[in-house]
Amino acid sequence: MQIAIVGAGIVGAATAYELAADGHEVTVFEQRGAAAEEASFASAGLLAPALLTPWAQPAIGANLRRQLWGSDATLRLVRGAGSAGLRWLWRWRQAGRSPAALAQLAALAGLGRYSLARTRELTELLQVDIETSNGALVLLRRPDCLERVQPTVTLLREAGMSLSEVDADTARLIEPGLSADTPLAGALYAPDGEAGNCRLFALVLRQAAQDLGAQFMFGSKVRALGQAAAGLRIAGEDAPRRFDAVVLCAGLASAGLLRPLGLRLPLAALYGYTISAPLREDTHAPQGAVIDPLHRLIITRQGQRVRVSGGAEIGHGGGLQHQATLQTLYLALSGWFPGGAFASSPQVQVWRGARPMLPDGAPVIGASGLPGLWLNTGHGACGWAQACGSARALADVMAARAPAIDLQAFSAQRF
Ligand SMILES: Cc1cc2nc3c(=O)[nH]c(=O)nc-3n(C[C@H](O)[C@H](O)[C@H](O)COP(=O)(O)OP(=O)(O)OC[C@H]3O[C@@H](n4cnc5c(N)ncnc54)[C@H](O)[C@@H]3O)c2cc1C
Repeated sequence: MQIAIVGAGIVGAATAYELAADGHEVTVFEQRGAAAEEASFASAGLLAPALLTPWAQPAIGANLRRQLWGSDATLRLVRGAGSAGLRWLWRWRQAGRSPAALAQLAALAGLGRYSLARTRELTELLQVDIETSNGALVLLRRPDCLERVQPTVTLLREAGMSLSEVDADTARLIEPGLSADTPLAGALYAPDGEAGNCRLFALVLRQAAQDLGAQFMFGSKVRALGQAAAGLRIAGEDAPRRFDAVVLCAGLASAGLLRPLGLRLPLAALYGYTISAPLREDTHAPQGAVIDPLHRLIITRQGQRVRVSGGAEIGHGGGLQHQATLQTLYLALSGWFPGGAFASSPQVQVWRGARPMLPDGAPVIGASGLPGLWLNTGHGACGWAQACGSARALADVMAARAPAIDLQAFSAQRF
């Protein structure tokens, strides 16, 4: 088939690779000048356990009021949130309370496991080092922190992930750079946890897809999707382009492209931040991924850099960075790993990115309901952890093969 893909983030790049590997003629249209310039640019990099990524799931087991306004508030409504943001927040809260929430989380755990396996297969096959680090430690500052993550931990264990409770001394043996002064009640350790560089892998997949014959048209903004047949219009071109199939991987922009076709996706941007600082001293820096569920932060190693990620904002905020959130990230970095990174170096990179979120925290993967139009979008807080699995499963469905995972939970028809 001749297939067009809209978007070259991590999801679009992985989809291009899988479809090209299946022998299709693939053309990717990307508005930016390179792959992974939007949400996939500087993610925290956590691959597993994906469900422990902050904001991976709706407000399950948590008190939304406390998240918004309590002393541990981590979610902020900023300029531009408006009534649409409040409506979305309400749906997100309802999704977390719905009787279907646990089944949806189990489906997400399955997608995460499948995707991790596919990511590992591809790094092996393509012989690339994507700055992988192994192991994930969930820091429990206070004894009640365990309660917050308990439902997810139970689910991950049921899904076969090894997660053991360790005391503070053992946690400091696993991560020798952890400060001895920062209070720590204990930790959960996932030896199979993993992190890697999302943008780097998107660039690798783009190259690998090109080697298989895929074409990437950068600087090509898709203005509209075809109403009846598979096709699209590129900004600045008069005639529409026709294909046998179109796959929408446009992240946050997907909802706007679908609306004129009568398809409504309740996508919202949940903005967050990462700070990437040059490594200072290996033994003082994190060796694997470290998750702080109280402040909803992740600290990872990305090769010669240490990256800390956190913050959740609904609303564009005028594009301004929230200084108090950044301050929290700097404090977390120096508080947990003193001496691990050069946090005041001019090479520090500060990034604000948008998680393309659907209210139940799950992506949409599969048929759109319109002929020839397929969806692979809305991966929210876990797009990196889910990209390779989503792409492989979608390629299987498009080839009329049964995918290795059940995609029912990710159908567009659930909205
Ligand atoms: C602070 C932060 C931390 C994160 N940490 C993690 C983590 O630890 N683990 C994890 O798994 N995930 C994490 N994520 C989430 C992850 O980054 C996203 O889910 C993922 O990058 C989404 O990928 P995507 O390809 O769907 O979207 P994008 O990367 O945004 O790609 C969409 C592409 O479509 C293009 N596009 C849009 N409209 C058009 C158009 N009309 N025409 C042509 N091109 C178009 C865009 O330019 C863009 O390149 C994090 C996100 C943030 C913000």
